[in-house]
Amino acid sequence: MGAAAHASTERRRFEVSGVVQGVGFRPFVYRVAQRERVGGFVLNDGQGVLIEAEGRSEALEAFGVALSTEAPPLARVESLTVRRLTPRGETGFAVAGSRPPEAVSGAPALVPPDTATCDDCLRELLDPADRRYRYPFINCTQCGPRFTLVRAVPYDRANTTMDGFSMCHDCRREYEDPTDRRFHAEPIACPDCGPTLSMPLDEAIGLLEEGAILAVKGLGGYHLASDAANESTVARLRARKQREEKPFALMAPQAERLAELTSSEIDLLGSPERPIVLVRRRDEAAVAPSVSPGGPWLGVMLPYTPLHHLLVADFSGPLVMTSGNRSDEPIAFDDADARRRLGDVADAFLGHSRPIHRRCEDSVVRSAFPIRRSRGFAPAALGLPVTARRPLVAAGAELKSTFCVVRDGDAFLSPHLGDLDCEPAYSAFRADLGLYLDMLGVEPEVIAHDLHPDYLATRWAQGQHVELIGVQHHHAHAAACLAEHGEAGPALALVFDGTGYGTDGTLWGGELLRCDLESFERLGHLEPVPLPGGQAAIREPWRTAAAYLERAGRPVPFEAWPKVRQSLKVNAPLSSGMGRLFDAVAAVLGVRERVTYEGQAAIELEHLACGVQSEPYACRITDGVIAGSDLVRAVHDDSAAGRPPAEVAAAFHEGVALVSAEAVAATGDPGTVALSGGSFQNLRLLESTRRRLEQLGFRVLTHRRVPPNDGGISYGQAAIAARRMI
Ligand code: ZN
Ligand code: ZN
Ligand code: FE
Repeated sequence: MGAAAHASTERRRFEVSGVVQGVGFRPFVYRVAQRERVGGFVLNDGQGVLIEAEGRSEALEAFGVALSTEAPPLARVESLTVRRLTPRGETGFAVAGSRPPEAVSGAPALVPPDTATCDDCLRELLDPADRRYRYPFINCTQCGPRFTLVRAVPYDRANTTMDGFSMCHDCRREYEDPTDRRFHAEPIACPDCGPTLSMPLDEAIGLLEEGAILAVKGLGGYHLASDAANESTVARLRARKQREEKPFALMAPQAERLAELTSSEIDLLGSPERPIVLVRRRDEAAVAPSVSPGGPWLGVMLPYTPLHHLLVADFSGPLVMTSGNRSDEPIAFDDADARRRLGDVADAFLGHSRPIHRRCEDSVVRSAFPIRRSRGFAPAALGLPVTARRPLVAAGAELKSTFCVVRDGDAFLSPHLGDLDCEPAYSAFRADLGLYLDMLGVEPEVIAHDLHPDYLATRWAQGQHVELIGVQHHHAHAAACLAEHGEAGPALALVFDGTGYGTDGTLWGGELLRCDLESFERLGHLEPVPLPGGQAAIREPWRTAAAYLERAGRPVPFEAWPKVRQSLKVNAPLSSGMGRLFDAVAAVLGVRERVTYEGQAAIELEHLACGVQSEPYACRITDGVIAGSDLVRAVHDDSAAGRPPAEVAAAFHEGVALVSAEAVAATGDPGTVALSGGSFQNLRLLESTRRRLEQLGFRVLTHRRVPPNDGGISYGQAAIAARRMI
């Protein structure tokens, strides 16, 4: 080839990083190359996508622009670098084989989250003429498993749990055809060559109809499925799973018959992440009482895998689909482990032959914020307001445990692990962290941890031989809220939760802080009360109610009190937790004297107050200390006088919101207030506090992407540690 023939021809190398593997990026590049008539190739490497393109310079310009502006919906282009090369006279465009990660250095490519079955695949699934009609593992470049099946990058079939299935002729043809929707869809499969179920589907449906509990293998673990309308089955599931009253999640083809839905809830339910959405149940919903005993809320999700679509289509009525575990242990995902742990919970197993590489539980959202950020969201990166100078791991707290791995300015919050207070959870924590570090190519040089000396995550951190950064629990909550909004403070923060370890060794949880990502100042807090019996008081709110009533100078009506009162001398840690104040009020109102899961009393109190207007109870603040006993006294006196409990509950919620806003205003600081901590999962408290603060001229930040509860702690620790290492 003579130089003259290519006078106007250029060759450029494009390196694209971000979420660009497993999202149909190479076929997209191929189509753009065809359109712009450029030659060259595209391939996946360990860090992203590498393209060399050759053609007229205008064509290459248009090609480059299209790479970032027309990328497929699931892709996220983080950086695009361009370099000039010497033209080779290449006119055809090809998708080349991947380069192994050893061939390149730098951060590995990002693995995308799992995505719900797309509309195209769903249409084929239900089309009797399609060769994948009713095939439970249908997927394409726009949907299906990713995070839970990718073992390594580059994202190639050999690096997924599909490596044991060799493609049939027809699948191979689709996989290699750049114009096909399944071009390089790595988990591509069909009834001839792909994974199979361990039991015919009609047999599984028959078992469910007879009232059996079925362990169903999903994307990131096993579910326990049962007929949601069958009370004796659901009650049996509760007993076997050792879960007394915490609501079970439901899966149904539509949610409208089960719950009153707002338009944003409808959007959340149908989003590609397909979380469990907490929604207000309809009175007439055909659901057994044991699904959500006494609770106004149902956790509902729509089917998100082809197997789920087939199950809910064939089974008439909603299914309970609760995580395959006992109480709050991590979800079972390994086949042998599931058989062992769920063997006496489930009556039968609906398994399949596609291995799960990583555990990932369902996500849960309420209104605008996540309660559990897990499947569909993980492992997508969250930004940090400051870049971490060194690789970092944040170990999180204990309940609703997560960890967070930081690479530069990106924080990778792990899926929900469950409560980190038992050996199975602790080994899951270590195993999943290992997989995360491997996936991200991170070796931590710094570890951030909670100050609580007894948390297993803290103990784990202290056993690692790297630099440690201890972060106060409520500071981490506040930082999580600031950081997810891209802010570093200074700001004020109201952090309300059940329990967190304070710098003075007492339990905090009703905190007004002034903070930035570096440090905090405790400007105010709820007046501490003794928790008679310590942990026992958390399970039995009447104990805390008794302590509050004594402080309020009111009689204590609980029979066991004279005996328990003795424990005040030996075992009664002081707590300023807002969750404990809600517990106390629930017990005084007779809503609940004992709880079976965290937050239960507050949830029921919120429900009681729902839709009821009331003036707030008054509550004194002295030197920043909020006299919670004033509220308990008012609750006691009003209910003794016969005021309806719903009005009392409403006046209490408004009282907490009012005194919180007053405490903030009393600081004299103008500006921003972050609201965080598990107590702000209470929408009445959240919205009333927000409204009152905004009326006072404050700008209010609330959680949108990271849970307000302890599931967000590791992200807050990460933001603080990234700041402190500068
Ligand atoms: Zn699809
Ligand atoms: Zn096939
Ligand atoms: Fe907390």
